[in-house]
Amino acid sequence: MTPHNLEDYETLRSAFSWDNIYEAAGWDAPEEMNIAHEVVDRHADHRERVALYHVGTDGDLSKLTFWELADRSSQFANVLDELGVERGDRVFSYMPRIPEHYVALVGTLKHGAVWGSINERFGPDGISYRLDDCDASVVITTTDNRETIEKALDDAPSVEHVITVDRGDGAPTDDVIFNTALDHASTTYETARTSGEDDALLYYTSGTTGLAKGVLHKQRWLAGVAATQRYAVDLQPGDIYWSTGDLGWLTGAINTLGAWFWGSSLFTYEGEFDPETWANLLDEYPITVLFSVPTAYRMLREHESVLDETSPDLRHALSIGEPLSAGVVEWAEETLGVTILDTYGQTETGNMIINNYPTMPVRPGSMGKPLPGIDAEIVDPETGEVLPPGETGEIAERGDYPCFFAEYWNKPEQTRASFIDGPDGTWYLSGDLAHKDEDGYFWFEGRADDVILSSGYRIGPFEVESSLGEHPAVAEAAVVPKPHPERGNIVKAFIVPSADATPSDELAEEIKNHVKSELSAHEYPREIEFRDELPKTVTGKIRRTELRDEAKQEAS
Ligand code: ATP
Ligand code: MG
Repeated sequence: MTPHNLEDYETLRSAFSWDNIYEAAGWDAPEEMNIAHEVVDRHADHRERVALYHVGTDGDLSKLTFWELADRSSQFANVLDELGVERGDRVFSYMPRIPEHYVALVGTLKHGAVWGSINERFGPDGISYRLDDCDASVVITTTDNRETIEKALDDAPSVEHVITVDRGDGAPTDDVIFNTALDHASTTYETARTSGEDDALLYYTSGTTGLAKGVLHKQRWLAGVAATQRYAVDLQPGDIYWSTGDLGWLTGAINTLGAWFWGSSLFTYEGEFDPETWANLLDEYPITVLFSVPTAYRMLREHESVLDETSPDLRHALSIGEPLSAGVVEWAEETLGVTILDTYGQTETGNMIINNYPTMPVRPGSMGKPLPGIDAEIVDPETGEVLPPGETGEIAERGDYPCFFAEYWNKPEQTRASFIDGPDGTWYLSGDLAHKDEDGYFWFEGRADDVILSSGYRIGPFEVESSLGEHPAVAEAAVVPKPHPERGNIVKAFIVPSADATPSDELAEEIKNHVKSELSAHEYPREIEFRDELPKTVTGKIRRTELRDEAKQEAS
């Protein structure tokens, strides 16, 4: 299949208007719109078209057509009505990637309630923090998660109903049993007549830098998502789109609803990441687009012997969430037969807003360029001035595009603090440092909080980590500042060695020399510590804050 956006990036960008997106979809957004209608009911007449391919942990495949999803989600919306749930109430899921999860997502939006989701790796404290923060009234879960939810409910008094998918372990008598309740409900539902300005989604940030924040998105969010899925992901009807992200974080919702908006099929695997299983799934199913995270691509590279063949169906692979090093991009070109397109976004930006596009030459290691329709720049976080190419500043956007967040839930101060007034208007500051090259490509350097000040130099951790990652003995690396009496800080690297490497002082020296010669003499890690694993958030991002605290303590 050829990409349908054959225009090159610059043409696309200059010709872009949000009306193009509405028109392409035959859509009267944003005045009156409901996400559930746009992504599912609009396609429901295609009785055979598959919305969801689901592979369970047992390896069994099940399918859900758009038509079935439309009916099932109407039943779910009716159940919410019966429970007295009102428009705008918060409905949260805590469950695996099973078909019921996707039904609940669409049904909640159809009803007009606000959808949120919590990744299953959170324990009772993480769950109750989120439910209580936004006064959620409904939780949807499974019987195997029910005990964890019970513990969380002690500290989440707002929750009135638990809807439980019975997976054979029995549920408390007060619970609404998901499939029984739906079976008794009507498949007819009058979709809530929401406008683009009505609340739709409430997703919490990953909590990489501190306590997670609730990020509110409006119904209009979908328009921005539709644009990315068209221009960066290049989705077409007929595509089988494996987005490995869980619905527990916003990328999962973006790719699920975005896939359906364009009538593509979503592929989901219920189990956790495992290189061999993933390789088998890519072999067995005609997956055309893969969307995942750098950790997963790095692990596939580590275990590349399981990938014995290039996946012939794969048209695009994409990445988000953490920096993707040039080495991994080059590896994938050879092994997977596709160029991994790095995309950048935040829960707040609502979408991937700086991307590599299939029609643009990729510069491995760069995040690419702003999505057509979005004004993003590198801005001086002190003055709000736009910086020239080559200078490091914060990634900033104008907040006037459809999928930009409305506010941090209940945190007006924090919402206000994320904007800066510059000489030519207001910018949203992302907290991420990067620079642009002469041709407008963005290069990520690190989170503003993670920058290392050493002997008068500002060192972005990503460049050092990428260089470390190119050494064959390094599986994964994170660098942080370690306080030092003369230099202010030194660069300290925590390294997970590759399976066939044995940590030793000699190896540490060899790795230091590698960075010194490949990168620079002032950026190389003066201290290296080998670890079996690195601390991560539930979404798999390295928690440098934790390592930074450790290094600080060691030094004191
Ligand atoms: P918190 O805001 O709670 O500390 P978080 O910022 O990790 O957590 P998310 O909104 O899930 O929460 O993640 C967005 C962040 O992920 C970005 O600000 C950026 O630091 C990082 N990120 C996303 N995509 C990329 C990418 N392609 N390259 C580098 N970093 C990325
Ligand atoms: Mg953040």
